[in-house]
Amino acid sequence: MENLVFEVINGRQLSKEESVKLFDVEIEDLLFASSKIRKNYKGNKVKICSIVNAKSGQCGEDCKFCAQSIFNKTGVEIYPLIDPEKIKEISTKALRNVGCFGIVSSGNSLNDSEITKLCQMFEKHEKVSQLGLSIGKISDETFLKLKKAGIKKIHHNLETSENFYPKICSTHSYKERVDTVQRAKKHDFKLCTGGIFGIGESLRDRIDLAFTLKELNVDSVPMNFFMPFKGTVLEHIKAVPPIEILKTLAIFRIILQTPDIMVCGGREMNLRDLQSWVFQAGANGIMTGGYLTSSGREIASDRQMIKDLDLEV
Ligand code: SF4
Repeated sequence: MENLVFEVINGRQLSKEESVKLFDVEIEDLLFASSKIRKNYKGNKVKICSIVNAKSGQCGEDCKFCAQSIFNKTGVEIYPLIDPEKIKEISTKALRNVGCFGIVSSGNSLNDSEITKLCQMFEKHEKVSQLGLSIGKISDETFLKLKKAGIKKIHHNLETSENFYPKICSTHSYKERVDTVQRAKKHDFKLCTGGIFGIGESLRDRIDLAFTLKELNVDSVPMNFFMPFKGTVLEHIKAVPPIEILKTLAIFRIILQTPDIMVCGGREMNLRDLQSWVFQAGANGIMTGGYLTSSGREIASDRQMIKDLDLEV
């Protein structure tokens, strides 16, 4: 197994079968490889991003892990699309402290009137190039409007492997998700595409997702770790242990090599005291300041953690 780690450091591409075996490698050896690869591509630099939940709850899709689905009785806050001027104000303020800001809306997609209002705001936004949009399914026509308004980055998760996907969502297909990602590529958007772990998937499912993301050549991979929301179908599922989270991050870095790997939802709750290890495990970014339906750490605490590790934002 040690040989495998050295081969990985020396750049050998692993098969899916070999990649699954990496979960059996000692954590110290795996992190040695993942941190070397991260350093090789990213040096000492790390990224911080934050998001706003611009439209919350009442989603008609049945994603089993999601607190915003109408099929999960979680009692999350419900509100329509926030006034775009308010989004502009929130994002401008946040971008004083973070490099990228995500505008995220619940639901399968936004309607034409919502897109028009957002685009009118983007055209006046001084930092539009640092915004990312996560608005579900996007048509060719909408991509053209967003591009014209100055948006450069789209966030659209695949969530899990193609094989496991039907077990966590039945109201839309994996293909629909991949189609939106491919349309974004076609229109030259930067892609922030990842998934959620700890929703009942197997280790092989995680490897399959990593290989799909590699094939799609995404720019950034957000990795979320399920927080069992009371009222979701998955509320009783066992959390992924911290060491397994670190191994998953490390294996994604080993497979994917170059894209940004961002640790997002579930970092604080699931990793607890091991949060600072994510960089050793190959991540080169974190989401800070809270998530869609749960709170996170203060930006100042995350910046201090990064400083203490001798890394730079
Ligand atoms: S993940 Fe997105 S599409 Fe699925 S239920 Fe949640 S808001 Fe809806």
